Amino acid sequence: MIRNLVVLSFLFLMVNQGVKGQQIDIDFPGGNIIVDQPGSTSTLYYTLDADTVGIRPDLRDTSEEWFYWMFRVNGMEGKRVYFQFPKRQVGTMGPAISMDGGQSWSWQEEKIGEGKDYFVYGFDNSGKEVCFSVGYPYLEKDFTQFIQNYIDHPQLSLSTLTKSEKGRSAELLEIKAKEATSKAKVVIAARHHANEAMVSFVLEGFIRSMLEDNEPAMAWLRQHVDFLILPFMDKDGVQDGDQGKLRKPWDHDVDYAENPIYQSTQALKNTMLNWGEGKITTVFDLHCPWLFGEWNEHIYFVGDEDPAIAQEQQRFISILNEHQSGELVLDAEKAWLPYGEGWNVWEEDGNLQVPFLDWAKTLTGVKLTSILEFPFANHGKQVIHPENARQFGRDMARALGIYLKIESSK
Ligand SMILES: [Zn+2]
Repeated sequence: MIRNLVVLSFLFLMVNQGVKGQQIDIDFPGGNIIVDQPGSTSTLYYTLDADTVGIRPDLRDTSEEWFYWMFRVNGMEGKRVYFQFPKRQVGTMGPAISMDGGQSWSWQEEKIGEGKDYFVYGFDNSGKEVCFSVGYPYLEKDFTQFIQNYIDHPQLSLSTLTKSEKGRSAELLEIKAKEATSKAKVVIAARHHANEAMVSFVLEGFIRSMLEDNEPAMAWLRQHVDFLILPFMDKDGVQDGDQGKLRKPWDHDVDYAENPIYQSTQALKNTMLNWGEGKITTVFDLHCPWLFGEWNEHIYFVGDEDPAIAQEQQRFISILNEHQSGELVLDAEKAWLPYGEGWNVWEEDGNLQVPFLDWAKTLTGVKLTSILEFPFANHGKQVIHPENARQFGRDMARALGIYLKIESSK
């Protein structure tokens, strides 16, 4: 207790003194960095006295090297600072930068380049705080702000899937069909891997389109299909700025065996069994890949091992290809990663680890499941930003409407 008091008052001092000096800190939702510089007295606040700063992502309980980081800098006015990572942990557009406390972001680079192990930033003379992140972040506050626009929509209900291990609410969104007995049920989950933020804008676009758009496919979905949407499967990881991917002993996405270890995965299993009533036909699991390289710089769906599901995936993708109108257009040749190619091989691990979709496809009636891999920064030669990501979400909603309408008439 006394030790906690000492730590608390120490942190209090740091907070109060902090903003005045030259400083990096991560004392805000999503923050993550380690500064390799002698003389730092806290892992939340680092004093800076050099123009070259050695930094690296804080892996915490991650079993392998990963690349998520986000921090803010104060008191460096007029300085040009060289931020050096030990590995290539900066994406193809450089860091995302915010000058307004994380409200709005933009890429540092104008052009798509290669992943690097450093970035350089020239601070202006205003003394304003600058936030840097490996990509566009998407936190609880972003979802709350977004969903407020629709909170009175008659078909929408927002509740809690479960409390997380640290007592946070993991949101559960339901969009109910207008007709009492729906033709199909769809589940969409995001952030099984906490750091994979860009795909959250795709989910925003999907929801926005479902609730707003009057085109026939969306009107049909609103009439006939029930949706269950989970925006943050690893809520603690998102808010705490964890990598999330490859957590020890295993991460949320593969926690669908007999006895899950996380609250949210156990709760989602129960909810899908109760809510589903055997009518779930389609399940999407939204992800982002690695920062750069092959199968990391374009949008694609991940092929299932089961030939029947693989066939449905290809049908869905060809509808999407045919009907998309957003800025980011799927490359038909590379829109589907067949099972057994690239990284797409799953090795059983003594039945302790079962991927979400491997469990979901065992449910009666499920025909189409897929992981979407949506890159952090670029789709081929196109730069990704929140609005064209949302457009891709709308394209997915439209394709799903067309696909399910055909299915329901069979
Ligand atoms: Zn992932």
